[in-house]
Amino acid sequence: MSQHSDENAAGMDGNTGCGYNQDMVRRFYQASVENEQNRRHVDEASNALEQLENDASVELFNKQVELLRKRLANDPRFFQQAFISEGINAIAWEFQQDELEENFIRTLWDLLLRNDGMSIVLMRFVWNIPLRFKRKFIRALDAHLSERYPMFRGLSQGWPGENNIPPYIRPPAERASDFDLVNQGYIGYMGLGYSFREVELLVWLEVLRDKQCDDKPCEVGRIPRIDGGENEGGCPVKIHIPEMIHLMGEGKFRQAFELIREANPLPNVTGRVCPQELQCQGVCTLNKRPIEIGQLEWYLPQSEKVLQDDANYAVGDVVNPWAKADRPPIAVVGSGPAGLINAYLLSKEGYPVTVFEAFHNLGGVLRYGIPEFRLPNDLIDDVVKKIIALGGRFVDNFIVGKTATLEELKRAGFWKVFVGTGAGLPRFMNVPGEHMNGILSANEFLTRVNLMKAHLEDYETPLPEVKGRQVIVIGGGNTAMDAARTARRLGGNVTIVYRRTREAMPVRKEELHHALEEGIELKTLRAPREFIGDDKTHFVNSTNLDVMELGEPDDSGRRRPVATGETEAMRVDLVIMALGNASNPIVKDAEPGLKTSKWGTIEIRPGSQETSIDDVYTGGDANRGGSTAIRAAGDGQAAAREIAGEIPFSQDEIRSLVASAGHYTELGQAPKKILEKIVLAEGIVEFVVYAPLIARAARAGQFVRVLAWDKGELIPLTLADWDAERGTIDLVVQSLGSSSTYINNMEVGDVIAGIAGPLGLPSKLHRYENGETVVFTAGGVGLPPVYPIMREHLRMGNHVTLISGFRTRDLMFWDQPDGRVGLLQAEYPDLLDVIYTTNDGSFGINGFVTAPLQDMLDAMQAGNGRAVGEVVTIGPPLMMRAVSDLTKSYGVKTVASLNSIMVDATGMCGACMVPVMLEGRMVRKHACIDGPELDAHIIDWDKFLPRFLQYRKQEDANMQRHGFA
Ligand code: FAD
Repeated sequence: MSQHSDENAAGMDGNTGCGYNQDMVRRFYQASVENEQNRRHVDEASNALEQLENDASVELFNKQVELLRKRLANDPRFFQQAFISEGINAIAWEFQQDELEENFIRTLWDLLLRNDGMSIVLMRFVWNIPLRFKRKFIRALDAHLSERYPMFRGLSQGWPGENNIPPYIRPPAERASDFDLVNQGYIGYMGLGYSFREVELLVWLEVLRDKQCDDKPCEVGRIPRIDGGENEGGCPVKIHIPEMIHLMGEGKFRQAFELIREANPLPNVTGRVCPQELQCQGVCTLNKRPIEIGQLEWYLPQSEKVLQDDANYAVGDVVNPWAKADRPPIAVVGSGPAGLINAYLLSKEGYPVTVFEAFHNLGGVLRYGIPEFRLPNDLIDDVVKKIIALGGRFVDNFIVGKTATLEELKRAGFWKVFVGTGAGLPRFMNVPGEHMNGILSANEFLTRVNLMKAHLEDYETPLPEVKGRQVIVIGGGNTAMDAARTARRLGGNVTIVYRRTREAMPVRKEELHHALEEGIELKTLRAPREFIGDDKTHFVNSTNLDVMELGEPDDSGRRRPVATGETEAMRVDLVIMALGNASNPIVKDAEPGLKTSKWGTIEIRPGSQETSIDDVYTGGDANRGGSTAIRAAGDGQAAAREIAGEIPFSQDEIRSLVASAGHYTELGQAPKKILEKIVLAEGIVEFVVYAPLIARAARAGQFVRVLAWDKGELIPLTLADWDAERGTIDLVVQSLGSSSTYINNMEVGDVIAGIAGPLGLPSKLHRYENGETVVFTAGGVGLPPVYPIMREHLRMGNHVTLISGFRTRDLMFWDQPDGRVGLLQAEYPDLLDVIYTTNDGSFGINGFVTAPLQDMLDAMQAGNGRAVGEVVTIGPPLMMRAVSDLTKSYGVKTVASLNSIMVDATGMCGACMVPVMLEGRMVRKHACIDGPELDAHIIDWDKFLPRFLQYRKQEDANMQRHGFA
């Protein structure tokens, strides 16, 4: 107990023997009702004084009255104050009794509910009294008010250490089939009909449990018993938790909110998703039932939001740092918690900041990973709005390492860069059968639902069938819980399979508890050893699980799971892998100077967030590997402090950097407008689209990820051409599914919602010195992606043979003298041979591209034809397979460019899995980061091709819905 409250308690003991009673309290109540009434009391008192004045015998008294009158005129609240102090004394007297009486506690509660100056005084009073009096208060609430407030019933048992009023959690039966918030916090009690003020008092009752510890373990952590170690627990962003609680205890909720947001711009987020049981609450001295610090943390911004919608993003008058231009610009890469907090703090310090984000939506894992039933998206929007209000800018669909390198960002005018790219590469088990349809990563599943809204009727992205299906989720962390609970909401019968014990699960305990309440089964000490599928549909239908036991501790100190040799079969329709994430190699691969660990995480200098590259900083999962939102936020905060160091530029230099970075940002933000539309053949359209930064970075063989409209799906489209000077890219789209048909219906002037890229690795070009030919087999709209690659070969001086196959003459394009192929033939008459085939023989060779290819290979083998250096095949998967099978027998190197099913197309989801055989083992490759070009001869085509049919049913339904079928 603090000194202050002890003094207060002593005062109370000393003051209260003077016989104040409940009448006093009522008088106090009377005196302190609404202002209007207050004024009336004050007026009545004044009238009484007037009458006294007329009595000549009380001259002396008159003088006193005069004095009082003056006081009254100057300070009408004087009487109220007098009543307050008397009232407080009366209350103090009540607290001296064995128990608080029913009338008293009802009156006191009503006073507290009034939410005025008086009630604040009372809150302060109760906050400061010794614990034994607080207990008395709680006992009285329990005894006399629990009919009105069922949550008070039994509250006094073991209060404050073992009992509290929990936040409002929606009942499992109600919540298990929708995506509305599960843990509604204290504010959730408003949904049951309690007023805002009542809820505030429930929160205050939670705060009253605080022991007001001097050593603040919740904020700074517990000092380890052995010297030298890091403090255990505590708050990574150093929110002043005890001070926050103190302010709330005294009824100063607004000040508590101001205090918390000084340290953390995301309290409404971190309060909900932090693993508090390991941090602030884990070291709370109320160890049986810690104070609900997380709940208090998010109650504050949420309650402000209830009162005023823009409370969490309004920043008042600020001078836009881009206009002020007195600090050099900063680039932030990634808009997860690390990037957002970094951008917020630096914008607040007056730096012009641009956040570059790979997705079309902001928030990182907070948006695409954590479902809305845990974290509503509007809270992330609030943070983004706040940064924008401070002058921060956002460029979405921008992939650092692809659209531009870190060095290019610096050259564009950004002084320093913070890399908060997370750890988005999902891990898999690499067990037999994992390639089958119906097996996907949690990242993919959650991205389809959370980011792409695949479960909603009017959104385009397909989703695996979940309703009524046997779903298993493999893993024991937060991602596994989120995937399982999402599948449950979509109607699946869900089992979580985990290889260790329940106690060892690295999950927020609350999430596991909620998952089990929602009817999700848990199978511990089990791990899939193989998946078995249906030979016709290629969908998984069962798994064999290894029964595990815990062995010796591993490096992490946790006991290692060991297979017992026993197995167990289980029927499954859908398998979701939630085995954690590794680092995405995109940034690392583009930056040779960037030091990374053996796990691929970006390394930092000791005691700093700076990487091995000067002026490039990092933090969050990019540096730690899979960690937590609050640690990411802590790193973003630490990096912001370092970044805002001494500025080595003159004002003129700063202005020039700001102008340049501002221009670059505008280019990134420019709408992706269609400038030209050329119908090449029926159902095949070429678009010229404004995308200046992609056009600058494009290389032959790369592709872009396109979101045609807000509710569309993300589809990969290969770059047919680009013009860096004009700032345009060319895309050729054939109407095959609903998205491509939708795009082909777009017109000049329309804006494509999002284009990201260029993605994938550029073609590996080899100079063939001995006149060998590079053969391209292009099937249909395989020709556009072939075009820039063959052009590069021609520019290098290689001989090229293009075998371009179409179904029929009417579908051919670019073959005229003024078409792209025709123009190349004119430019390279000696280097380019072109052979056309049509399936129906309406033009060129009758048949498939494989026929002339075989002729060439035979001639080569017979020694009377040109040697074939390599074959590049692009087009329908079956054609690529046929080409691959053919060339394999001739031993000719063959590359297939795979336009697989993708979601994020940056490695984050794993959907574009390509099974390849390496040294007799099946290995996973991903078309988006290892490709799109892969060695065709190592692709396991039997396993790969069925993947294209996974979403056939959903695709057909979309076609019907749009009326395209
Ligand atoms: P991220 O949140 O991963 O954000 C990185 C951002 O960078 C992304 O938006 C990404 O698209 C973008 N990006 C990546 N590469 C590039 C590039 N080359 N160019 C431009 N942008 C790029 N933690 C908790 O504390 N509590 C939880 O309850 C919890 N639940 C989780 C549930 C799930 C499903 C998952 C996957 C994680 C969960 N975590 C949880 C972990 C937590 O979300 C992360 O630790 C945290 O989000 C990391 O923040 P970050 O800013 O480092 O990265």
